[in-house]
Amino acid sequence: MGYPGPTSRSAELYERALRRIVGAVNSPARSYAAVGLPYPVFIARGQGAYLWDVDGNRYIDYLAAFAPGILGHAHPEIVETIARAAADGTLFGTPTPYEVELAERLQAAIPSLERVRLVSTGTEAVMSAVRVARAFTGRPKVVKFEGCYHGHSDFALIRAGSGPATLGQPDSAGIPESTAAEVIVVPYNDAAALEAALERWGDQVAAVLIEPIVGNMGIVLPEPGYLQAVRDLTHRHGALLIFDEVITAFRVTYGGAQNVLGVEPDLTTLGKAIGGGLPLGAYGGRADVMDRVAPLGPAYQAGTLAGNPLSVRVALKALDILGRPGVYEELDRKGRYLAEGVLAAARRHGFAAQVNRMASGFTLFFTDRPVRDYASASTASKELFARFFREMLGRGVLLAPSRFEAWFVQIPHSQADLDETLAAADAALAAMAAD
Ligand code: PMP
Repeated sequence: MGYPGPTSRSAELYERALRRIVGAVNSPARSYAAVGLPYPVFIARGQGAYLWDVDGNRYIDYLAAFAPGILGHAHPEIVETIARAAADGTLFGTPTPYEVELAERLQAAIPSLERVRLVSTGTEAVMSAVRVARAFTGRPKVVKFEGCYHGHSDFALIRAGSGPATLGQPDSAGIPESTAAEVIVVPYNDAAALEAALERWGDQVAAVLIEPIVGNMGIVLPEPGYLQAVRDLTHRHGALLIFDEVITAFRVTYGGAQNVLGVEPDLTTLGKAIGGGLPLGAYGGRADVMDRVAPLGPAYQAGTLAGNPLSVRVALKALDILGRPGVYEELDRKGRYLAEGVLAAARRHGFAAQVNRMASGFTLFFTDRPVRDYASASTASKELFARFFREMLGRGVLLAPSRFEAWFVQIPHSQADLDETLAAADAALAAMAAD
């Protein structure tokens, strides 16, 4: 099984795209190279929990655009907000009242964000946070963790998870040795390895950059006490702690993972869900650190499109919707129901499998080992994942095309959608077991 019905229009678009768009995709993670299908489905529209491709096939969407999707597609209040904001003009190159309100509301949700800067993507947020950390400390090096992904700026692509890991390119070409030399990579969930790295290079380390809950080697949770140990070690060595919450913020709760994990970083990066489906990122944190950014300080960072009123007004509306009573409880309930159901189905059909879950996001790993770092995540079978992906696609369920990504449940997923998905998973795994 592969596609759910005729896909001749997707096939034609793919052929056309190949001639003008590199690899026919505008982001490599969208390629179906790792799942053994000749071309990705081209999506024409979305509504609520569903997507329709150009040939009219319908999918229940758990790809969620690689995590921003939480409100569902074409949410009526978001559509209305876009129309109203667009009618007022989309870009002024000036401060706006909307960005002031958003900065206040982000700080109310994530108290450590004493000062914030809006940018347009997660990549920019992380790149900028690391720059200000270097400016503040006067130190050059960054510690990051194997299998985490922090966007595609040069330093961030040293041993990166997510798309680079999926494509077997955890180190990108085109990055100078001198940049790689400033990046120290240690395993996640291993406080002793971080301690050893900081013992050796501590006085040169500007920042320790971490996904507090990892989303980019599949979902991997911090073990009890681990993030506190990371916090203590950074304090001891005078390095700043940056939480990359591009996936986790407004996914695990209204606010950041830091709200529920009880560990406060110096700087935080945001993206994905905060934009309500439009391009928006942010970074911020301690006022004394952020005040090093221009125009107050010597660390330059800018953006023509930064804080554009369309994205910011949509973000305000997204926060309104996400802040309503019961939203996260319901997302968590649905995430648990689906994650437990998929894991039970895999085991029922005789597969060694693990599920790691953070609220409404989870990853099914085809491995017999608990997944706690990149080494254990990499034991998950590529072949079984690829087959499972194809079987699910063929049954109208769209997942991210990589064993290192996650399923994301969204507000409009109904109980019927979840049950249809579990029936599809059961049939998919039965077909795989019959091989
Ligand atoms: N940080 C994390 C944790 C991410 O997952 C991503 C994107 N997958 C980024 C940063 C980069 O964000 P963007 O793709 O918006 O540049």
